[in-house]
Amino acid sequence: MCVKAVVGGIVHESSTFAAEVTGLLDFGSFSVVDGAALVREFARTSTCVGGYLAVCAEADVTVAPALHARAEPAGTVDPAAYQELEHRLLSGVRAARDRELVLLDLHGAGVVAPGESLDRRVLAAVRAEVGPATTIAVTMDLHANLPAEAVELADVVVGYQCYPHTDIGERAERAGRIAIAARRGTVAPTVRGLRLPMVLPPSTTDDGPGRELRELARAAEERDGVLACTVFHGFPYADTAQAGASVVTITDGGPGLADEVNRDIARWLWRNRPAFLTPALAPDHAVAEALSGTERPAVLADTADNPGGGATGDGTYLLRAVLDSGARACFATLHDPATVALAVQAGVGATIEVALGGRHGPFSGDPVRAHATVRALTDGNVVHQSMRRGKAATFGPSARLLVGNADVIVSTHRLQVFDPEILLLHGVVPDRYELVAVKSAHHFRSGFAAVSTRMIAADALGLTSRQVERIRRTGPSAELWPMNREARFALDEPVGAPTHRRNGAPQWT
Ligand SMILES: [Zn+2]
Repeated sequence: MCVKAVVGGIVHESSTFAAEVTGLLDFGSFSVVDGAALVREFARTSTCVGGYLAVCAEADVTVAPALHARAEPAGTVDPAAYQELEHRLLSGVRAARDRELVLLDLHGAGVVAPGESLDRRVLAAVRAEVGPATTIAVTMDLHANLPAEAVELADVVVGYQCYPHTDIGERAERAGRIAIAARRGTVAPTVRGLRLPMVLPPSTTDDGPGRELRELARAAEERDGVLACTVFHGFPYADTAQAGASVVTITDGGPGLADEVNRDIARWLWRNRPAFLTPALAPDHAVAEALSGTERPAVLADTADNPGGGATGDGTYLLRAVLDSGARACFATLHDPATVALAVQAGVGATIEVALGGRHGPFSGDPVRAHATVRALTDGNVVHQSMRRGKAATFGPSARLLVGNADVIVSTHRLQVFDPEILLLHGVVPDRYELVAVKSAHHFRSGFAAVSTRMIAADALGLTSRQVERIRRTGPSAELWPMNREARFALDEPVGAPTHRRNGAPQWT
């Protein structure tokens, strides 16, 4: 049986706190592809669309490529920009007349300014366009603040299980397979969600409680009748009504098993939530800790200034601590277009006076004033080799500067460092250094796994501090744990005990 699938999406992780710093995202902030360009851009990449294309090829499903738009995590999306993107996505859906499936790539934590769920809007618009007879599958990020309506608007909801997100492609393949099987009548998926009155601080699934949590979801998927199980950690940098963690399970058949799986995992997560609060190391302590071990290099993560969570990427707290240590270090990357322009003008070999970073936000710290020698200039173009493997990305024109004993890479664009590619592009070989510092929270872990096993998180002031409870909140997310240590979750109540829920309706099964 020949099936046609529309593939597309609008992907954004919106920090409502970054909105004050980065402003509203306009249409030009998004990289937009459609039609044949979508296939060229994503085929054979470890991305959501790459996964959909692979599974469609495997299952002999015809692909009708619609619009795909993605912007770097930042502030909230301008309603007019959203409207334009939605219009173009729906035009593509409409053009594929005999479609039976829509396969969507959504982040799950997108916000249309001031506080509306972008993902709910996309799902509602696509459902209104295609009607009830078309199967809609969506794959979302582990950090989705899943809107409650998602499980009603979509027939299949699957999320990443790994942080770093090394499983994006395979999770999209799973979502696509379930949708195609549903279309062919070999499964009858039921999707159920359960929301918790909490949001997790950024927590890797490589070890610790995040790993245990991931293993619970994986074990659930081994059960007869379970097609997919995802624990969404939630995105802690959004003060919206959707903010929060949730568990979503898809079963073949009725809702009983899905609800049971959701409840079991939610109960585990709620009871083990204190384990996700880990002490934060100030930058100078993190540097000292890194140098106290014998393994070289040690990798330091500038978690509080992670461009991948919407931060400005020009924070100088960790940079200063690294420079002050005198260690042979490299630092990638500092978002500093003005310094790149100076370096380009001066040329390789020149020594220039720089004021590094510290310009773009209240948490950026003071600029680091220094003499710097320009050692390399590049276009900043890389191809990711770990997370999002095969996908091209650009840091824009970039420069390698020698500052004191450190090689600092400054870039024109604001981008998280996933792997050593941007270092290698500048002739910076990480294993020649004592310290390697990167602007990332956890995604760097997969890309730098071959460089070092010693990875240390530094946490300073910043838009993506892991001390999420210290961020001032005036909206709905203030009621979530860990901001509200008194938050109650009805499923955790002992049988017979009175229920006093401070939070409005945390469940939506
Ligand atoms: Zn994520």
